[in-house]
Amino acid sequence: MASVELKNIGKSFGKVEAVRDVTLTIADRELVVFVGPSGCGKSTLLRMIAGLEDISTGELRIGGKAMNKVPAADRGVAMVFQSYALYPHMTVAENMGFALKMIGVGKAEIEAKVRAAAAVLRLEGLLDRKPRQLSGGQRQRVAIGRAITRSPDVFLFDEPLSNLDADLRAQMRVEIARLRAALKTTMIYVTHDQVEAMTLADRIVILNNGAVEQEGPPLELYERPANRFVAGFLGQPKMNLLPATAVAAGSGLAFRLTPDGPAIAARPASAGLSPGDTVELGIRPDAFTLTESGGLNASIVLVERLGGSSLVHARVDGLSNLVTVELPGTYQGTPQTTIRLGVAADRIHVFGGDGRSL
Ligand code: ATP
Repeated sequence: MASVELKNIGKSFGKVEAVRDVTLTIADRELVVFVGPSGCGKSTLLRMIAGLEDISTGELRIGGKAMNKVPAADRGVAMVFQSYALYPHMTVAENMGFALKMIGVGKAEIEAKVRAAAAVLRLEGLLDRKPRQLSGGQRQRVAIGRAITRSPDVFLFDEPLSNLDADLRAQMRVEIARLRAALKTTMIYVTHDQVEAMTLADRIVILNNGAVEQEGPPLELYERPANRFVAGFLGQPKMNLLPATAVAAGSGLAFRLTPDGPAIAARPASAGLSPGDTVELGIRPDAFTLTESGGLNASIVLVERLGGSSLVHARVDGLSNLVTVELPGTYQGTPQTTIRLGVAADRIHVFGGDGRSL
């Protein structure tokens, strides 16, 4: 059993407040991903859990035990870093067993643990190789193997796939998901890559400026972002964020992007708004549809053909920024074509002046 509890955790480096008042409970066997832009404090938070960084304020408990003052080696955690940091003169097996050897575990037990980890990671055929004889993905698997042999209560991953190329990242993402199913251990995974966060996490914690913006299951965050930061961060291609003004429409409100443009219905359209208020409408690229009549009039500027889908960048009449529209790969439109963009009211997010979702 190893839940991880963070209570009002904060960290300052001199005047820099890297982490501010983070309170979270990570359940036993849960895989939680900390994600956010560079400098948001995600690595610092992980390093405090690992015991590699002192905690300035707040309380950390692992498996119910207070950990603030417990040395890293005694916390029951194992960390996998972005740089694999393997010993170049040792074989794969020696690298994976080294930490156990250092604490005096017997040879037979080390060998058994290395074999078991190698089987999970499909490294059996590589145990006698040196790190220089391995690919980047294999080296990262050895680094993970080194953590597995220690049988930790909690795995901590700090951007483990950042050094790999796109193909390998995708492969290793699947490996980590598989590993997770096999190991059934609590895992905390730090990344700036929202695809990794979406695909791996039971729960995502989105950090910005050292504080939690929102936490929850991936699809919940994707479908119901609490604010424009979360909305813009999750989802690829990014959500279109379009400044708009609330206007009276029947007994409720609608929104106009430009004074002469059409009134756009959005649900919820919404609490506390009055005609004349400025908001931002959030529309994901795949929420747009092409319509024959009504909708927004736009002109295609560029089409990126990805095969399965095409990303159409279009200028809506009266707007200076382009919107991105995701259409099927079979779409034939070319630059300068005029199109009409429809969007269902329930696929529009409305963000108030303070950036919060309404
Ligand atoms: P990245 O994705 O770039 O690694 P991150 O989200 O992991 O970013 P952190 O490394 O946790 O961010 O850093 C958070 C903030 O704390 C940053 O502003 C960083 O400059 C600052 N910081 C981190 N370590 C130190 C340190 N040892 N001394 C001073 N400031 C630090």
